[in-house]
Amino acid sequence: MKKHNFYAGPSRLSDYALQATSEAINDFAGTGISLLSISHRTPEFQDVMDSSAELVKELLNVPEGYSVLFLQGGASLQFAMVPLNLLDKSATYINTGVWATGAIAEAKCYGEVVELATSKDKNFSYIPKGWESKVDPATSYVHITTNNTIYGTQYKSDPNVPALLVADMSSDIFSRPIDISKYALIYAGAQKNVGAAGVTLVIVRDDVLGKVDRVIPKILKYQTHIDKGSMYNTPPTMAVYTCLKTMERYKQLGGVEVMHQRANAKAQLLYDEIDRNPMFKGTAAVEDRSNMNICFVMNDEYKDKEALFNDFVKARNILGVKGHRLVGGFRASIYNAQREESVQALITAMQDFEKRHI
Ligand SMILES: *Cc1c(COP(=O)(O)O)cnc(C)c1O
Repeated sequence: MKKHNFYAGPSRLSDYALQATSEAINDFAGTGISLLSISHRTPEFQDVMDSSAELVKELLNVPEGYSVLFLQGGASLQFAMVPLNLLDKSATYINTGVWATGAIAEAKCYGEVVELATSKDKNFSYIPKGWESKVDPATSYVHITTNNTIYGTQYKSDPNVPALLVADMSSDIFSRPIDISKYALIYAGAQKNVGAAGVTLVIVRDDVLGKVDRVIPKILKYQTHIDKGSMYNTPPTMAVYTCLKTMERYKQLGGVEVMHQRANAKAQLLYDEIDRNPMFKGTAAVEDRSNMNICFVMNDEYKDKEALFNDFVKARNILGVKGHRLVGGFRASIYNAQREESVQALITAMQDFEKRHI
C-alpha cells in the first residue's frame, strides 16, 4: 500500500536511489558481490567516492579551492569540528533554534561565542534580520543554520558578512541555488536532502584551515580527510552510494534550479491550504517560511482536535506529520524527494477534515 512519507529525517528517498541501492546490495557494479561486503579500497568503490564529490561540485557550482568531504558523526559532530578547526578566540553565531543552540554549546568549549542575534523571544518562529552589519570583522567566523527543521523557518538568501561564513545546511542543501563563494564551510547531515543516514557532507574552502593553534585529534581535522579523499578510515559505503544515486536523480531532473522551482511550488500548495483552511494556521513568520518543513497548528477553537487529525491522516497512509514536541501541531517535511501527489493527499485530508468538523 502506498504511504505518504512526511518524516523530517531520515526522510523520503527517490525511488531511483532506493532501487539502485537495493540492486547494489545484491550485486555492486557488476562485481558479483554486495555493496555491503566490498572493500572501500576497490577501484569500484573509489569511483563511487570520486563521483559523489564531483557531482556535489557540479550541482552546486563549487568553485576552485574548495574540498568536498563525506564524513561520519552527523551534523552534530560538525557542531564541534567547526570550532575545533576554525575558532581562534571568538566566533559569532545566529541562534535560530535547537540545532543552532547545539552548535553554540559546542563552540563555547573552544572559545568565546558572540550570539549576535536570536529569535528565541518568539520560539524561533522567524529569522533575525539586520545583524550582518554588526558582525565584528575580527571574529573567526559567523555561523548560521539556513533551514530550521523544527520551526519551519529558512533564510531566503545568502547573508553578506565581513568574515568567514559557516552554515549548517542539513535540511535545505540542494533545494535552492547557493553562492558557495560566500561560504568558508558548509555542512549537511545526509538524511534529509543528500541521501541516507550515516554520512555528512562537508564543503570547505581549503585556505581557511590550519590557522588555529590547538591540538586537534587527527580524525577531527578536516585536513586529514582532505588528504585522504574522505577515506582516512572506513567510510559508510552504502550511505555514500545512496547519496551518489540521490544526486544523480537531481541532475537527471534538471539540477538545483529545478529542485528550487519544485520546492517553491510544493510548499506554496501547502501554505495556501493552511492559510485558507479555517481550522489551521502556520507557525512561522510568513516571509521566513521554509520550503522544506511546513509547520502548522490547529487554530485555538479547534485545538482539541489535534489528536483526531493525527489519527485521521494516519488512516489515509499519511505518515510523519506530527510536529516536533517543541512546536506542537504538525510538520510536513517536503524535501526534494517528496512527491507533489503526497502533498496533494495531505491537502485533501485537511479539506475533508474541515468538512467533517465545521
Ligand atoms: C537534523 C539536523 C541536525 C542534526 O543532524 P544529525 O545528523 O542527527 O547530527 C543538525 N542541524 C539541522 C539543521 C538538522 O536539520
